Amino acid sequence: MKNLKIISGAICFAVGLIMLIASTTLSRDMAYLCKVFGVILLLFGIIDLIVVLVSQAFTSKNLKDKDDFQVSMTKCPNCGIQLKSETKVCPKCKTVIKS
Ligand SMILES: [Zn+2]
Repeated sequence: MKNLKIISGAICFAVGLIMLIASTTLSRDMAYLCKVFGVILLLFGIIDLIVVLVSQAFTSKNLKDKDDFQVSMTKCPNCGIQLKSETKVCPKCKTVIKS
């Protein structure tokens, strides 16, 4: 699904670019139409690609957060803050954590 969006965005971008280039070889009326459509397609392509990239960045960040969360956690017996299980000394209250 995501690959499809990347491909459609890339195609929009490429077709828009081709239309812009082709418009320079056409007669004036056709060139105008070609330029307008070309710019619209270029913009759609760019927006599509940006949306995909941003959503990918978000999902990969969420996945990373999830992975971090799945690392076994423990609580400081003194102040109760969340610590990774391999933590030896609480960074907040300096209590030595027994594992
Ligand atoms: Zn603590």
